[in-house]
Amino acid sequence: MILQHECHLHLYGCLDPQDFWQVAASRAKTQATRFQWFLSEYERTTGVKLDADRWWSSDDGFARFKQTYVCDKPVSFEIFQAKFNLLIALFPPSPDDLWLAESVFKKHSLSGGFKEYRTFLPLYLPTMERTAYLRNLLLTANSFTTKTYQPRIAVSLMRADEETNNGYKFLRHFLDSNPDVAHLVTGIDFCASEKGHPPKSKQGFFKQVHADNKNHQHLAILYHVGEMWQNISLASAARWCAETAMLGAHRLGHALALGMDINAFKGSRIHESLDECRDHLTWIRLTLNELQAYGFGPADYQWLQNYAESHTEQDYVIWTYDDDLIEHTTRFQDAAMQIIAQRNPVIESCPTSNMRIGQLKSSSQHPLRRFLDHGLEVVVSTDDPGIFDISLASEEALLRRDFSLSDRELLRMNHKTQCLLADGPNIKTI
Ligand SMILES: [Zn+2]
Repeated sequence: MILQHECHLHLYGCLDPQDFWQVAASRAKTQATRFQWFLSEYERTTGVKLDADRWWSSDDGFARFKQTYVCDKPVSFEIFQAKFNLLIALFPPSPDDLWLAESVFKKHSLSGGFKEYRTFLPLYLPTMERTAYLRNLLLTANSFTTKTYQPRIAVSLMRADEETNNGYKFLRHFLDSNPDVAHLVTGIDFCASEKGHPPKSKQGFFKQVHADNKNHQHLAILYHVGEMWQNISLASAARWCAETAMLGAHRLGHALALGMDINAFKGSRIHESLDECRDHLTWIRLTLNELQAYGFGPADYQWLQNYAESHTEQDYVIWTYDDDLIEHTTRFQDAAMQIIAQRNPVIESCPTSNMRIGQLKSSSQHPLRRFLDHGLEVVVSTDDPGIFDISLASEEALLRRDFSLSDRELLRMNHKTQCLLADGPNIKTI
């Protein structure tokens, strides 16, 4: 096995199903109200009324629990979230309860490597409690650190502007005030739903982080983008990836829309708001010189504009993915990938996660091979190995079997991940 390091993990989603089950019954009692919230949200999303008592009373209790918690086949993001809610319900962030983090670090310390875990900053906790929580989380990570296992933490911020700014301000102050553990924090992350949060809204914020990085601890900007999209065209979702790179994000999470096979959407329709479509056409106009150099020219722009005008109904453009639109969008993806390759951010690709939440029909629809063919810097991670019930070893087997990744390509990814995490605050700003 070559892959040892990974930089795209969500701390909560790392919890092993067996470890979780051991404490689930007592947690469901102590967190009774939150557990009821999980059950009702699960039923609302899936239509399934869970009989959770059987998780701990019947002979096949663990199998039943696992069936609910684990996401082992393609599902919508809403169903994935309904499963993730079980973790949220039973492990509210608290400075006095680091059981989940301890359990994850303990398990991962057995296989070792550099591992970067993202986790939300609980802004709703009072400042002192929030500070104690983050400090204790970092101290816990530190206590598991050995020569062979090096956990790191990236702090996930909410995408809404006010919460982004409040979380970031808190984090900068925390890092300045806690120099003994600050080196364990590698970056800030944006995850969860992208809906309503175009990357352009983060332009000012990214500028501020770049400026602060010159005089303070370096924080890499990690941005989930093009992972899931419902109300924007595939081309717009691919453009969001390019925009994020142009704004100076250091790493793009998933970027599925940037390189996936558009044929997966053949025959489907997407309703996109006129505002988003206008944003797309404007961005193409402003970037046309560069796009043209990569094979997407004025004739493509004209075709797109005509399509949008003739498929507008009220406030929406209706994109129907027939052969022409697929060909056109594929050409746009190729150009967008070249634009990103020039900026050289790292793409964090999580194939199993993408196959399941992206509901891809086969691995040939996944963008990983296309990313590599376009010269993009790609690393691979498991995202939520607990919920997906996978490991880095099983992911490597998948990469070899379905993506024909060579030892050389795997070594390069592993080395790149190590460099990203080992250098920590000393990484140069871009
Ligand atoms: Zn993720």
